[in-house]
Order: sequence, then structure tokens, then C-alpha cells
Amino acid sequence: MNNTKQWIDTAEAALLHTYNRYQIVLEKGDGVYLYDNEGKKYLDFAAGIAVCSLGYGHPKYKEALKNQIDNLMHTSNLFYSKPVAEAAEKLKQATQMDRVFFTNSGTEAIEGALKAARKYAYTKQSGKYEFIAMNHSFHGRSMGAVSVTGNEHYRTPFEPLIGGVKFADFNDLESVKALVTDKTCAIIMEPVQGEGGIYPADEAFLKGVRKLCDEQDILLIFDEIQCGMGRTGSMFAWQGYGVKPDIMAMAKAIGNGVPVGAFAMTEKVAEKSLAPGDHGTTYGGNPLVCAAVKTVLEIFEEENIIEHVQKVSTYLEEKLGALVDKNEFIDARRGKGLMQGLVLNKPVGEVVQKAMKHGLIVISAGGNVLRLVPPLTITEAHVDEFVEKLEKALTEFAEA
Ligand SMILES: *Cc1c(COP(=O)(O)O)cnc(C)c1O
Repeated sequence: MNNTKQWIDTAEAALLHTYNRYQIVLEKGDGVYLYDNEGKKYLDFAAGIAVCSLGYGHPKYKEALKNQIDNLMHTSNLFYSKPVAEAAEKLKQATQMDRVFFTNSGTEAIEGALKAARKYAYTKQSGKYEFIAMNHSFHGRSMGAVSVTGNEHYRTPFEPLIGGVKFADFNDLESVKALVTDKTCAIIMEPVQGEGGIYPADEAFLKGVRKLCDEQDILLIFDEIQCGMGRTGSMFAWQGYGVKPDIMAMAKAIGNGVPVGAFAMTEKVAEKSLAPGDHGTTYGGNPLVCAAVKTVLEIFEEENIIEHVQKVSTYLEEKLGALVDKNEFIDARRGKGLMQGLVLNKPVGEVVQKAMKHGLIVISAGGNVLRLVPPLTITEAHVDEFVEKLEKALTEFAEA
């Protein structure tokens, strides 16, 4: 029985229309494959937008969550619980930060990071409040996160936004320097821009920004929501660059599918930043999502996920390079690790649709970029399968 149209119509009749969804109804995930309600199988190179890094149905992950549901899902942050303590300790180690605050999403992690920076300046009575953000950045959809997102389309309908935000060009240190004043409180950026079109930072740029921040007591905020958690071949992208932020935001893959994010900071920031009464969340970091975070971090260690990403991404880059050379519809490759973009000269939306027809799920970024953010557990055989399916989809353009 095929009820696809019925499910789509039911959803569209009730949901606020903020997404143009693909016309498939997903039903089940297994490993790096997804299945729709008609039983069609898809190789998943989107991972729910860089969320399902361990793929679907990891046995240890599933069991940990089921156990936690049986024991205790929620307590509020007025109490302690074991999974919260364990997740915080493990995340502190993984981030090399000193203090962690759990949120429900990436947006809220950014919101918290911005508040933490403003509070730090307030405590120091420095009179600083301005943020410098990057063009083509994406930081989320709340009023604070939108305010620092470098895409006018996302900002304009919601103005006036929070004040004191200026936009510099990513990878252009001079453009950042030109915006610094004695009121600059923090600089915020993604070490690898995601939604904006998969642009990795230059190491010299990040080092230059770090130096600028140190010289003028400006806080450096990294948004690792998409590029963090092993995706670029180091636990967090900044560790691969060797440029440590003062505050960082994470989400997406840290819970592998449960809604959880976090912002974290160094002790230097924490001791002058958010204190009791300044910030809070009812759900944020409840025992259920913390059981997920703790288990994900354990699996990363046990299965050497980082080393695996380094190896398999080398193979993926080779194959993508060959595709660029060979295929007239692909102009370039950009990216780091398993966060890759192919710059197309065909409408990326149509390529995505055709790929889906051939059983491959990919998504777009920044208009003309095919974004590849597969589960980190893919193997070389999956890369081969991806190439084969993408080539089939692209061939249809040649024939059309
Ligand atoms: C997805 C994303 C966000 C927003 O996260 P949500 O969980 O959707 O609120 C912020 N920054 C970056 C870099 C992202 O990729």
C-alpha cells in the first residue's frame, strides 16, 4: 500500500509552511541507509543535517537511551543526576573547555554564547557590547542567532534585531580589523562555514583573529555546531587548526539525534560570566539527552571514530577530486574531512531530486553547493556507492 500522498497532504494541512520538503516519507534507518514508507532504500549522505554521525540504530546508543527512558527522563536543572554529571565531564574533556552549559538546540547554544560574552564585558565594566560576525555565516533562527547570521534574507524581515552587530568577510583578516573598536566584545564565526556553502577557514585567518582578540581583550566565539564532533577529522574543528576559542557552541552530532546542544567556555570567561539567575533552561541537558551525549562520546573513543574519519575522508576527497576533473557539471570541491561541498553549475535542487530517485540522499548549501555530510561511520564501499549514484544523477543532465 502506498499512502505517500496521504501522509504528505496530512502534514502539509497542519504544519506551518516553513519548509519545502522532499516528497518522500521516511520510515526507518539502519546503519548509513534510510528507508521510505514504500520500502525504497537510500544511501544517506546528509545524516539529518550532520546530526546522525553514528548512523542509525547503533546498538550501544539505542540500549543506553532505552535504559534511561526506563529509569528517568527528566528532572529539571534544580537537581543533579548521574547522566548529566557524566556527560558534562566527558564533554569538558572533549572540548578542552572548563565549563559546559547544555541547551536544547544549536540556536540556544549560540544564544547562550552571546549572552556569556555580553555578561563577561558587563562584569569587567569594559563598556564593550559589539559583536563582529562573518558574511555567509549561519548561527540559527532565534532573534540573537539571526542577528549574527551573515545572510540578509534571514535577517531583514525580523528587524530590528539585537544592536551592535557588524559583518566582516570570512578569511579576510583586514576586514575584521577594520571593524574592531573599543566597544568590540566578541568575534563569532564557524571554523568551517556550513549553510553558507562549506567554506573552511584559512589557518592564518584564524590565527590572526586569535591574536587580535588577545591583544584587545575580545572574546573569540566558535560555532562548532556543524563542523564539530569529529566531522572535520578532529574532535572539534578548532583543534585541527590549533586555534582555541574562549567560548564555543555545539549541537547537531553531540546527541546523534536527540535534541541537545551546549556552549562551553574557559575558566577565564566563566568566572566573570553567567552566574546563578543569569541563564537557564527547563529541558536543557536533561538525563535522557545527557545519556545520549555521554554514550556518543564513549562510542567515539571505543570505535576510534576520529581516526576513521581521517582515513575515509582522504578516500572521499580523492574520489571527489576525480569527479571534479571528469564531470562538466562540477566546478570545484571544498571542505574538510567528512564535511565536503561540490560546487555545481547545474541547479543544485534538481541534482538533489535526481540523486534521490537513484537512492542517494544529499542536501544543498549556499545556493549552488551540493553538501556532503554523511554519517561518520561510512566506509570506502559507501563512498564508491555514493559516486556511482551521483554520477547516474548527473548523467541525466547530459542526456536531457
Ligand atoms: C544548524 C546550525 C545552527 C543552528 O542549530 P539548530 O539546532 O538548528 O538551532 C547554528 N550554527 C550552525 C553552524 C549550524 O550548522
